[in-house]
Amino acid sequence: MDIRLLIAGPAWSARPDSIVDAGRQPLAVERVISEHAARLVPGVITTTPHARYLALHTRLAHEAQRRGWSHDDRQEFRVLLRRCEALFAAIAVCHYDAHPAEHAARAGTSQPHGAQAMAGLLRKSSFLVTDLARVYSEQLAGFLGTYGGIETLLGLTDGGPVPRPAVGDDVEGLAGLDDLIAMADRSQDDVLTRADLADLEHLCLCRVADAPDGVLLRRAYFAVGQHAKTHRLSAALLSLALRGERDAQSIDDAMDLLCCFTSDLRQVCQGDDLYRHALTWRGVLLRNWSVWAWRMFWARLVAPLDQPDTLDSAVASFVEGLPHTTVRQALRLDLPDLVDPAGNLLPAEHEILAQRPGSERLWDPLTIVRMLAVGAHRLDHLGGGSLASFSDDRDAEDLGPRYVAAWLARNADRRLADAVAQQAHAAFGRADAVSRRKLHWTQHGLKMPTRLRREGDRWRVEGEEGYGPMSLRLNTFRSVLHQLGVLAPDGDHWTIGRHHAEITA
Ligand SMILES: [Zn+2]
Repeated sequence: MDIRLLIAGPAWSARPDSIVDAGRQPLAVERVISEHAARLVPGVITTTPHARYLALHTRLAHEAQRRGWSHDDRQEFRVLLRRCEALFAAIAVCHYDAHPAEHAARAGTSQPHGAQAMAGLLRKSSFLVTDLARVYSEQLAGFLGTYGGIETLLGLTDGGPVPRPAVGDDVEGLAGLDDLIAMADRSQDDVLTRADLADLEHLCLCRVADAPDGVLLRRAYFAVGQHAKTHRLSAALLSLALRGERDAQSIDDAMDLLCCFTSDLRQVCQGDDLYRHALTWRGVLLRNWSVWAWRMFWARLVAPLDQPDTLDSAVASFVEGLPHTTVRQALRLDLPDLVDPAGNLLPAEHEILAQRPGSERLWDPLTIVRMLAVGAHRLDHLGGGSLASFSDDRDAEDLGPRYVAAWLARNADRRLADAVAQQAHAAFGRADAVSRRKLHWTQHGLKMPTRLRREGDRWRVEGEEGYGPMSLRLNTFRSVLHQLGVLAPDGDHWTIGRHHAEITA
């Protein structure tokens, strides 16, 4: 069957976790994906889609140095920072409103930071910079904290509260943002109109690619930064994966298709470094299916506890629809083929999803345990770099593929429902241990981070547990590459951008 048909089925959506879920992770199986994502796309987190903030903060670091500010001048620096960030976002909002297609073609449709908070003010005919700067962010240092770690990693600033520039004497590269500083310095009482901001569209976050600060950022990402080679390789793979793909296509699916299920990957990659990098990605992408399945396992297991009930009852409900067969039959013999006769990987994960009954958000338990079993069996077909990123010596504590393989071997001849019921009980024990480990004091007393609460001899889950796949940060990386002119939309497809050559140099 055509892989694309399978993927077009109930495809995964690489929705970033909510902030609440990101901190919770009740089964604690996600570590491996977060660590690999941080290694494969360093300096990219899900909340930082706009490249030009990096240049803005670097320009502000130079300004602070020029004015002789030290860490003792934090207050003055924050006033300037907040006025600049608020203006920067307001300029982008006004540009998008006036020229939506032009702005989106260069920067995507993700709003600048603080746009929501400023929306009321920006609807008025005129406003004060001071007012914009007051409302756009509740954080004292605006979005410096969000981007500061990346700026340090890229060698742009030292990441301090009054950051010091680390890019040497390249003030020319930042001169394009001088007008923003000048505007932010205007009198407290200066009234601004949308027309004033429209005149400043050269400062919009969509104009960074061809501005001098865009050159500076591309150099930091792809030429001189300590992670330049990794950035170039991941960017090259993402370009290959997205080329010709429709904009609506899940970016994780596109990478999955390229790195895991392209039989002539070595030829496609052209070069040993890129091929090896693709194999590392392969391991992480495949492992993410298992992590996702564990997240589904937990979310589905506790879903009936939205009404208070016993844990035994939740487990019985989890296993009641499983087929009356053995573990070996259901989770080995009845699985789709994992490789073709030549040893190329086949997209069994996509096939299992396409075969699942119904279309509810939570997978049915059989789909969940089949997905986990596929992960375990993948151990037989991965080697070298992909095996190292797929599974490691912490598998046992992370419920990784080796843990599942051992479980399958131990339970091969048991009735599927009995074996899964035992595992479900173990999951309750594990989640309890995980939340006890995270026990901490807050101003309201001792807090145990769990949604599962005991009420007498019954249990109740508050809200809904996270059930999405872990983010591999590719959406954010694509946004940065797009804004820097490395990737570009062409109609509703992706293609290479006018500065693409800089990642292959
Ligand atoms: Zn714009």
